[in-house]
Amino acid sequence: MNDPMRQTENPHQNRQQWYAKQVLNSLMEAVAVTDSNLRFLYINPAFTKVTNYTWEDVFSGTFEGWTQVMKDAAHLAPSLNMAEGQWDGEVWLNRKGSGPVPVRLRARQIETTRGTAPQFIWTFQDITDHKNMEHNLHVRMERDPLTGLLNRSTFQRQLEHAAAKLANGTRSVGLLFLDIDRFKNINDSLGYQAGDEIMHLLARRLMLCQGPDDLIARMGGDEFALFLEREHEEALWSAIQHVLSVLKEPVHVQQQELFVTTSAGVTVCTPEHRDVTAWIELTDAAMYQAKDLGGDTCVVSGQDAHRVARDRMQLETKLRKALMNAEFVLYYQPQVSIASGKITGFEVLLRWMNPELGMVLPSAFIPLAEETGMIVAIGEWVLRTACCQLKTWLDKGLGPLRVAVNLSARQFQQDNLVDMVKAILTEVQLPAEYLELEITESAAMYNVQPALKTLQALRNLGVRISIDDFGTGYSSLSYLKKFPIQTLKIDQSFVRDIPGDSDGASIAKSVIMLAHGLKLNVIAEGVEWPEQFVFLKEHQCNECQGYYFGHPMPAHEAHRLLETQALSHFILPAGPH
Ligand code: C2E
Ligand code: MG
Ligand code: MG
Repeated sequence: MNDPMRQTENPHQNRQQWYAKQVLNSLMEAVAVTDSNLRFLYINPAFTKVTNYTWEDVFSGTFEGWTQVMKDAAHLAPSLNMAEGQWDGEVWLNRKGSGPVPVRLRARQIETTRGTAPQFIWTFQDITDHKNMEHNLHVRMERDPLTGLLNRSTFQRQLEHAAAKLANGTRSVGLLFLDIDRFKNINDSLGYQAGDEIMHLLARRLMLCQGPDDLIARMGGDEFALFLEREHEEALWSAIQHVLSVLKEPVHVQQQELFVTTSAGVTVCTPEHRDVTAWIELTDAAMYQAKDLGGDTCVVSGQDAHRVARDRMQLETKLRKALMNAEFVLYYQPQVSIASGKITGFEVLLRWMNPELGMVLPSAFIPLAEETGMIVAIGEWVLRTACCQLKTWLDKGLGPLRVAVNLSARQFQQDNLVDMVKAILTEVQLPAEYLELEITESAAMYNVQPALKTLQALRNLGVRISIDDFGTGYSSLSYLKKFPIQTLKIDQSFVRDIPGDSDGASIAKSVIMLAHGLKLNVIAEGVEWPEQFVFLKEHQCNECQGYYFGHPMPAHEAHRLLETQALSHFILPAGPH
């Protein structure tokens, strides 16, 4: 009969036993041997390390953890099929003096001679670290690591689940997709860390809006998705409004205050049509529509959202080829001195002549060009072409004259803008003072410190800077004073109804006074009628631009106009008309 404890006379066998003992003592795994009544016959030192129970504890039967292990094991494997001679599983073990830990437990029946009661070897290992890792991995697979929000696939899965649970007509549910406008600019100008900080901040704000049944996800890059469930439609709309308003609050990163805007798409989902894929497509299309409108807006999806999304894709494909196919043309709109009636310059306005679409106005493609980054290459082409054209006119003795080129927000935040402008002026041999760059207040105010640096660098080149559409953005007077600008352009919305509309008239008047106080040149945009012109003249506006003097026109027409200076007859003597 085999007695495992018996020393033998055989030295080779003794050595083997000695080694076996060393191995058992050095194992990290807890090992125990029990009889068939689960009474302990042996434990190794790791057993005490894992369980905190000593040999005395287990031998005297005070090993409470063991009973729990057995219960768990029995629960997990009801048969605890020792008949098969083995069992493997994960159970909870109550350590002495502390809480339960997960362990991987293996039981093996020891081969004994017939007639003897079976004995078992138990090995178990603390798998807390492994479990934590598994949990983290699980969380990571479900959540976006940066914001802790759900990720796209989990959102979609949970949305399906939430949709399936919806009872007809009892709750109001909506899907809201949000895309941060020009987020790439933030990354480009402030670095990815600032970009990450902003995403994190915005995610926190969204979480604070979260109701008990809502889902919030980061769908990737700069996109968030919310599924909102409320008692009734009014509450749903107020929740959507609330989300949009908290995102409008300025964000503070790297000691800077930024105003982030979003393009939002909304679908009010009907539980009667629980097609989650259709909800998502509709909301996505609405969001893209909001982007096409220039961002900072919310579009509620309607019947035509799909068509809009498709049209947008087709437009993008065509726009990508436009530069290569030489489909862009510059139009020139005269800017006229009120005092002399002479053309002081031209604003350059881009037109896209597409063989299928005909002439496309900037409002239909500039937002898309901005969004896709195509504006950078297009803008460079505009600048070079405009400078070349002006140089030709100057060389023909048609000056002095300046050309005003619009810069979009994205171009303005381009790292190499100043170098690009400098290179083009050198290449074309155009003195910098003949070039005026028009930027909007919002482009300049988007991120004030770098904007100030860029404006100063452009100014150092000798280029003139003008603030376009003044009065429609932040109109921050303190920044206006700091910016090295030469011209303010009164937005056409204030010119449209003068002198009839007293609000528009007093704003126009105030902007003129403000500009003069700051020693700036002031141009009124959108002047269409003699009455507007007379009013502006009376209030000492310096220059006018608008259909009254001429629509934007191709270069050859502008050339003819310059040669004839055929505008002076518009300059009426001041007085009632
Ligand atoms: P903007 O710079 O404020 O240009 C003035 C807009 O008003 C032009 O529209 C012009 O055609 C229009 N306009 C001029 N006079 C009158 C008038 O008397 N009445 C009315 N109702 N409108 C008048 P357009 O050409 O459609 O351009 C729209 C905007 O697109 C521009 O606004 C500018 O922000 C942008 N844009 C145009 N060309 C370029 C470009 O080359 N690059 C960039 N980045 N933006 C451009
Ligand atoms: Mg302009
Ligand atoms: Mg303007």
